[in-house]
Amino acid sequence: MASSAPTPNPHIAALHAYKPGEQPQGGGWIKLNTNENPYAPSPKVAQAIQALLSEEASVLRLYPSPDSAPLREAAGRLHHFPAENIVAGNGSDDLLNLLIRAYAGPQRPVGMLEPSYSLYPVLAAAQGAPVVKVPVGLDGSFEVKAVVDSGASIFFLTSPNAPLGAALALHRVRELAAVFRGLLVVDEAYAAFADEHAADLPKQFSHVVVTRTFSKGYALAGLRVGYALCSAEVAEVLHRVRDSYNVDRVAQVAAVAALEDTAWLKSTVAKICATRTRVTSVLRDYGWQVNPSSGNFILANPVKPQLSPSVALAESAFQFLRERKILVRRFPQHPLTEKGLRITIGTDAEMDAFLVAARAWTEG
Ligand SMILES: *Cc1c(COP(=O)(O)O)cnc(C)c1O
Repeated sequence: MASSAPTPNPHIAALHAYKPGEQPQGGGWIKLNTNENPYAPSPKVAQAIQALLSEEASVLRLYPSPDSAPLREAAGRLHHFPAENIVAGNGSDDLLNLLIRAYAGPQRPVGMLEPSYSLYPVLAAAQGAPVVKVPVGLDGSFEVKAVVDSGASIFFLTSPNAPLGAALALHRVRELAAVFRGLLVVDEAYAAFADEHAADLPKQFSHVVVTRTFSKGYALAGLRVGYALCSAEVAEVLHRVRDSYNVDRVAQVAAVAALEDTAWLKSTVAKICATRTRVTSVLRDYGWQVNPSSGNFILANPVKPQLSPSVALAESAFQFLRERKILVRRFPQHPLTEKGLRITIGTDAEMDAFLVAARAWTEG
């Protein structure tokens, strides 16, 4: 080549991209590594997309609603919130990015619980913002004072926590909201599988934002849609920094259809939670240590008779499963997760195959 590409900004040159879980090509895999929903989305979703595509002179010619108005109204009906308090995004990752773009910077740190979602530090680095971390326990416990003292301009609470599985107690989140002065974001990607949620807090606190996604509970990870519930002031800021058409036309109609099929959500979530309970108890019978989960996944330390959990055992179980085309996820970066596997809850048939392999490894 006749020229070399210019170097990017120094903080971008130093940036390490987020590593998503493996998406294996080719069939035959039991994919329990990225917390996708194993069931097909509501049939109403396919009907809505079909209807859109069969409209005369294909409406795909036309730009979508710039501010996703019909979707925000549907979400508003669900949460008893005015549409002006809702911002839609290209997945909830888009909203996390917009929140950091608007509220963090070199002098305005991003705070997060550790361990939690490893995308936040990447988004902070892209903004040139420092990251401050506050520990969270296996049971979702954290110190309110530590979050307040962190000095973060924007703090992310992940509830239920991924990869731990535990939900944060709502009364603790409310306690924190009452004293924290920055922007408090509750990332509720897994709320559908939990008993409690914080979606009402933004009605009371104008500095609290709750983010939701269609990727997990609604089985629409391939579409990329999410939304934020927040005060009208925060919504107005996010609208300023987002792409003018940040949610495409197909995603908008599909998301509305998904939101309105509450019966589908209820029955699918009930199925996944029942499978989660069953898999947890069978693994415990094998001697594995399973952290109680409020998500569509479990964090489990694999153990063999007479041995204690270890990084080596976790690595061994991971490879054993992988050789049998069962893919789970490792989180070797943190002491609470390094001896474990994060296992997405799949269909009952997938989990039966997983349990057969888990047992063979345990006894092997
Ligand atoms: C999956 C996940 C998201 C991302 O959701 P998308 O809507 O697919 O971007 C956000 N936060 C957490 C904690 C997640 O696990």
